[in-house]
Amino acid sequence: MPHTEPCDLFVIGAGSAGVRLARQAAQRGARVVVAETSALGGTCVNVGCIPKKLYSFAAHFASDFADAAGFGWTVGETALDWDRLKAARAQEITRLNGIYGQLLQTAGVHVIHGRAEIAAPGVVAVGDAQFLAKHIAIATGGRPSMAGFPGHGLTLASDAMFDLPVFPNRLVVVGGGYIASEFASIFRGLGAEVDQVIRGAQILRGFDEDVARFLAQEMHKKGVRLHTGAQIAQVELGSTGERLVRLTDGRTLVADAVLVATGREPNTAGLGLERLGVALGSDGAVQVDSDLATNVPGLYALGDVVARLTLTPVALAEAMVLADHLFGDGQRAMSYEGIPSAVFTHPSLANVGLNESQARQQCGAVRIYRSEFRALKHTLSGSDERTMVKLIVDAQSDRVVGLHMVGADAGEVVQGFAVAMRAGATKAHFDATLGIHPTVAEEFVTLRTAHST
Ligand code: FAD
Repeated sequence: MPHTEPCDLFVIGAGSAGVRLARQAAQRGARVVVAETSALGGTCVNVGCIPKKLYSFAAHFASDFADAAGFGWTVGETALDWDRLKAARAQEITRLNGIYGQLLQTAGVHVIHGRAEIAAPGVVAVGDAQFLAKHIAIATGGRPSMAGFPGHGLTLASDAMFDLPVFPNRLVVVGGGYIASEFASIFRGLGAEVDQVIRGAQILRGFDEDVARFLAQEMHKKGVRLHTGAQIAQVELGSTGERLVRLTDGRTLVADAVLVATGREPNTAGLGLERLGVALGSDGAVQVDSDLATNVPGLYALGDVVARLTLTPVALAEAMVLADHLFGDGQRAMSYEGIPSAVFTHPSLANVGLNESQARQQCGAVRIYRSEFRALKHTLSGSDERTMVKLIVDAQSDRVVGLHMVGADAGEVVQGFAVAMRAGATKAHFDATLGIHPTVAEEFVTLRTAHST
């Protein structure tokens, strides 16, 4: 499409949200242009979900090798070749970038490589080219927040962790959110000494506290040294290139690399939003209504840049809603309730629905069913890893309003239960369901005695 031609939709950013929106709109007959500054697929494909999960698989081999002895195997000497792991990851990501390009091409989307800026209402500039667009969608995602302490230039953001030139044998992770905790587990599994420094009393603020506490204990057993109530005073360069992480309580942690993962912020800089008067929230997120429309007519935003729930499936779902709203029958609506999620720590955590304190607030009376146990596999492996399952039930309606798990493959288990919960499953439904034996998941349907009310 020549750049002077008008288009129906210009999408800024080809991440999870942008690619899905562009494809869906084009498949409905719209003339669509999408601009991307970097590699197709955005954060999830290039520096988020996918490479992280690949490295999590890599890290799991360490415990698999250790577990094998209890089952009669003799495993020889093992060693991680960091360069080979990085190369394998890069090859897979390049393959995915290609698939995204092909999908867009097949759908008839015009892809422009470059930084897009909204020059005026309905006009997008990419370098010297200008596009007249009936609708513009901002799908620019987020970026790691900068640390505010002296010496932050010596630290790294999560984006850099996948391609470190040298494997960090000593890693300090700053932050207690899911990304920080995942990297702490992954690099521990890959063989690093890991210190995780968090300001609060517990990792995973906003998650069920009891579940987060249990996970922290399990991560500790695997060797992640958690420093709670700790803050960074500054980071200095040591005489041999090591990082000296000074804590405000006077302690110093020595590391080969320092990852700061204390939050992410919406990517709105340089888009021309101030000029257009686009409303932003106090967190910098683009403000949108239930149809993902901003306060400027013809301008929409979706995905991490609106920061409602910064997860890929949410970005994809928002894209489907917007495509339907702009080019379909407009029947699709976005629901942010009951979205399952997982934390790929070791062991992993997954949940759907409310945490205990939310449930007590929203439901009043609740029944809590909870079990901690050693999974069958570890009776022979000798590992001291424990699993936890927890159900939160609204005492009045008997509806299961929260389901939480810490253990192997928690995300795989919880995904299925999320369907049951969306369908309104009650505790009676769980009780009437037979287990698959012997599995960890069957524990969810055999919980009989309320742990507390
Ligand atoms: P992005 O994927 O960030 O895409 C935005 C795109 O816009 C980028 O490619 C960017 O280069 C481009 N862009 C920005 N400005 C411009 C401009 N001016 N012009 C042109 N292009 C521009 N979510 C999960 O569901 N599961 C997980 O396990 C998970 N793990 C994660 C792990 C990490 C380390 C991180 C950082 C995130 C993780 N996420 C995970 C979150 C997930 O990656 C995001 O929710 C998702 O990528 C959001 O998609 P998006 O399209 O809104 O933004």
